[in-house]
Amino acid sequence: MSSKDICPICKRPIEEEEGYVTCSVCSAKMHRRCVDEEVLTDASGEWLCPYDAAMAALDWLDAILTHYSHALTPEQRDDIVSRLKNYLKLLGEAPP
Ligand SMILES: [Zn+2]
Ligand SMILES: [Zn+2]
Repeated sequence: MSSKDICPICKRPIEEEEGYVTCSVCSAKMHRRCVDEEVLTDASGEWLCPYDAAMAALDWLDAILTHYSHALTPEQRDDIVSRLKNYLKLLGEAPP
């Protein structure tokens, strides 16, 4: 482990003696105390950093909407759109 490993969650360096986990996609190291196992692991129990966890969730959403958007009622589409607008707010982007 290099001395330059910075936890992407708390932005502090990871010291040798601290417990840490590694993102299975980009190999980022994160303090064990900074990660929530229920949020940042995939279906096989592999750790993901917040970015790769969000991208994996979006990939899943892409697949659902690509294959099944015709199965959604207008009300269900509105529900999804309003959730997506909340995500834009969380990311600091104003919805149109
Ligand atoms: Zn941390
Ligand atoms: Zn990652």
